[in-house]
Amino acid sequence: MSEVLVLIDHVDGAVRKPTYELLTIAKRLGEPSAVFIGPADKAAEATESVKKYGAEKVYVVDDTEIKGYLVAPKAEALQQLVEKTSPAAVLITSSYEGKEIAGRLAIKIDSGLITDAVDVQEGPVTTQSVFAGNYTVTAKVTKGTPIITVKPNAATPEAADGAAAVEEFAVTISDAAKTAQIVASQPRKATGRPELTEAAIVVSGGRGTGGNFEPIEGLADALGAAVGASRAAVDSGWMPHSFQVGQTGKTVSPQLYVANGISGAIQHRAGMQTSKTIVAVNKDDEAPIFELVDFGVVGDLHTVLPAATEKITAH
Ligand code: FAD
Repeated sequence: MSEVLVLIDHVDGAVRKPTYELLTIAKRLGEPSAVFIGPADKAAEATESVKKYGAEKVYVVDDTEIKGYLVAPKAEALQQLVEKTSPAAVLITSSYEGKEIAGRLAIKIDSGLITDAVDVQEGPVTTQSVFAGNYTVTAKVTKGTPIITVKPNAATPEAADGAAAVEEFAVTISDAAKTAQIVASQPRKATGRPELTEAAIVVSGGRGTGGNFEPIEGLADALGAAVGASRAAVDSGWMPHSFQVGQTGKTVSPQLYVANGISGAIQHRAGMQTSKTIVAVNKDDEAPIFELVDFGVVGDLHTVLPAATEKITAH
């Protein structure tokens, strides 16, 4: 069975959930091999984590020559690994960094690239939502090694025992790849909530909140969810842009998306309509958001949400 390379998304060896989703997808396509690019002394921690999600092999690329630079050296390292292993596919998380690595890799190995897949099945055949969510496309790479970036929440991570055989992989990074150096980096402020694009549940608020996000945050915390916002809420200065869901904000694909006081404009839908289950609370029963929901509540969010939160926390 051919190997399928999965680039591990991690922070200092702590593996992020989307990597487990990629490993689960990789198992449908072949034999999952995880690729760790990072400090050698953190590789054991990452290896232990990916072993539990079926990684049969873990390639460890020491990042001494890579750290301190933006993505080009990582793409070069992956290129060398692909040339050595001839995998059936390469799977990378659809983050800003992941997509840039994937694009650079595709050019280097002269392969086709598919970004932002919301599903990947045998083939590999991918599903994407394109043109602001107006079309769902199934696609397939027809040249070279398929390189696919996959959106967080595209699969439910399935625990599986992998052999996780470690193989150190030495890379040579060219000077050409070291042209953009990181001058400073700051960890993101911890909110205690999951990252918006990775969260299994997102609770969002729009203009209908009137600027009071307490009911949104209360429900989000009761569900262990991330908080999102419509552009109207962001433009009003109620929430920072990093919370915006939509065409000019973030695209989310959680298991559950709860839209509160959001009308359902096409530009908002573009960022959330691939969510598995959609719930809306809106006081206007003709709000367009109700066209795409699985469950809708016609009511005032300021009463509906605290009542729901109370019920949930009582359990
Ligand atoms: P509104 O459309 O004003 O809707 C508010 C809703 O709240 C209404 O349906 C109302 O019935 C309901 N409501 C009011 N009070 C209550 C209450 N107490 N309880 C329950 N419901 C209540 N928008 C995005 O969201 N994300 C984007 O990325 C984005 N990008 C854009 C890009 C472009 C180029 C353009 C032109 C627009 C973009 N927009 C985006 C804006 C988009 O068109 C809408 O204007 C925006 O989504 C509206 O936000 P909203 O639903 O919160 O507000």
